Amino acid sequence: MSKYRHLFFDLDRTLWDMELNAKETLAELFDRYELQKRGVASSDIFIEHYNRYNDLLWDRYRRKLIDKATLRALRFKQTLAHLGIHDNKLSEQFDVDYITEAPQKKKLLPGTIEMLDSLQSNFKFHIITNGFPEVQHHKIANCGLGKYFEIVITSEGCGYSKPDPKIFSHALKKSGATAEESLMIGDDLAVDIVGARKAGWDQVFFNPAKGSHDEKVTHEISDLKELVTILK
Ligand SMILES: [Mg+2]
Repeated sequence: MSKYRHLFFDLDRTLWDMELNAKETLAELFDRYELQKRGVASSDIFIEHYNRYNDLLWDRYRRKLIDKATLRALRFKQTLAHLGIHDNKLSEQFDVDYITEAPQKKKLLPGTIEMLDSLQSNFKFHIITNGFPEVQHHKIANCGLGKYFEIVITSEGCGYSKPDPKIFSHALKKSGATAEESLMIGDDLAVDIVGARKAGWDQVFFNPAKGSHDEKVTHEISDLKELVTILK
């Protein structure tokens, strides 16, 4: 029998398919605001640039170099400016639409529901996410994950972001779990896995692309259904 009782999941790219859901939303915005007529060759080019600026800004946000308002104000503004469109009103509109519409998308990583269904009688499930609370709670409700999870911890709600060990101690306090019986499952080595390890938890690195790395991890999987085998 597994020593673990509490499974803490990351949300974006671990359960909620960020890549597909974001891509679908951004492609719709590309069409809605007729970016092709404004000189952007394709939605793929728009999405590629958006991802680059968004990743850079998220990295700065996690390191507390910029706040959330700045992140939101800049990601579309910088993307559009890079593509030759200097239009503050339009970038604000993109941000509002994106924040409203992306969380309504429902695509989950393959095997999410099957994995949760087969483990739910033996474990308590929780989420630890660095995403914005107003967005993450909508995502969880819209894609049918709400009924599985007891505690949802967002970095903004608790004041610390992964990989800070403080968010992991906060998670233990909220859930009544101990570090020994807790397992963190996430796709981000530096954020989810190193963070949990520093907090004294075991970890499962979800690495669907099977990318190579030098970190010491407790378990590694490339498909969510392998979690069921690990936890037998
Ligand atoms: Mg993630």
